[in-house]
Amino acid sequence: MLPAELSAYHYLTTPVWVVDPDDERVVFANHAAQALAGDSSLTSLRFGALSACAQTRLAHYINDLKHQHEIVEIWTFATPSGELPLRCRLSLATFPTMPPVILFEGANIPHAATESPARSAGYPSRRHSFYHRFFTTTTAPMLLIDPTRDGRIVDANLAALRFYGYGREEMCQLHTWEINTLGRQVLPVMAEIARLPGGHKPLYFVHRMADGSTRHVLTYAGPIIIGSDRLMLCIIHDITEQKRLEQELEHAALRDSLTGLLNRRQFYALTEGPASRHLLLKNDYCLLLVDTDNFKAINDNFGHLKGDEVLVQLSRILETCSRAGDFIFRWGGEEFVLMLPHTPLESAVELAERIRDSVTKLNHEGLPGFTVSVGVARHQAGETIDEIFKRVDKALYQAKNDGRNKVLAA
Ligand code: GH3
Ligand code: MG
Ligand code: MG
Repeated sequence: MLPAELSAYHYLTTPVWVVDPDDERVVFANHAAQALAGDSSLTSLRFGALSACAQTRLAHYINDLKHQHEIVEIWTFATPSGELPLRCRLSLATFPTMPPVILFEGANIPHAATESPARSAGYPSRRHSFYHRFFTTTTAPMLLIDPTRDGRIVDANLAALRFYGYGREEMCQLHTWEINTLGRQVLPVMAEIARLPGGHKPLYFVHRMADGSTRHVLTYAGPIIIGSDRLMLCIIHDITEQKRLEQELEHAALRDSLTGLLNRRQFYALTEGPASRHLLLKNDYCLLLVDTDNFKAINDNFGHLKGDEVLVQLSRILETCSRAGDFIFRWGGEEFVLMLPHTPLESAVELAERIRDSVTKLNHEGLPGFTVSVGVARHQAGETIDEIFKRVDKALYQAKNDGRNKVLAA
């Protein structure tokens, strides 16, 4: 039984579909929607030649819809005069007797263009065509591209002009490869897309704006026939902020937040993960365990914040003394581990000495003097990480017992 509230949608002149996101069944279509789509299946509407959708499975929209994110799909309608696109806005709706459903509201009812725009006249000049209305009313940046003319941009909607920062005239002088940082390499990709029937996965690119800045974008491109021209309609989705957050998260997962050095988890990823194969099979690396001497006293005498500054300065010394290809980890607290691939023990001891000596010479304004002790060990055939660690730890312990500010090899 359908809830009575749904019948109110019959009074709307815009088409409305109500779809169950789990089984993707249309549970209700108002009169306008029925008149427009007839017997067309949801699949043919969502994945037709002119369609564009961010998610294939409707259930994947639920989270974004719950957070009121703006989601729009382009659907394809078969009409006697050819296929036409319809822009649908998605929202989540709840009715008393059913689980949450997705509401698709058609933004405008497509009518066949009464005239076919000719290339020479320029696409934007057809002010009364459906194409023009569709293009101008949508808030997503859209470009119309001619793949047969070297990827020339033949039209751009207002949202695209605003996004890229060009005037229409200027924008329509450009080719896609002039805004894509891949340059002309993008042309073979475009040729492939032009051959597809539409509905392919979005592609990730970096686009250049009029002011020279760049934005990360997903492009949803599909073939569109206007008059006698086979063109490509390209919808641009700006994901720059998303990319930035991804990079931040990636950095946070890899790095220690105080010192910016690799964290302990990365040590195990390197020594036990897939990357370990080329490092460990060669049995050709040394480990340094660096521990700040009497660090507790630094905290007690100068405060925890000064203690943090000491750790940051020590990290910079470790970076300065190490070589390209060495890995530096903040092991925890005031302890650091250096992994030196393809390094004989003597070179590792020399490097450890350089670190110890640089620390004693550090004369940073406002920073208390401090020293470090270092344990050094070279990996032995068949040794596990725990075993080499026991040895390097023992060497460090001896260095501490020897009076600190020392380097000792196991
Ligand atoms: P030793 O020479 O034997 O290594 O003595 P120590 O005082 O350095 O060693 P201990 O292990 O007794 O103390 C380490 C201190 O490091 C205790 C802890 O409060 C401090 N610590 C650990 N992590 C941090 C941090 O991130 N910032 C600051 N400021 N202190 C930290
Ligand atoms: Mg210490
Ligand atoms: Mg310690």
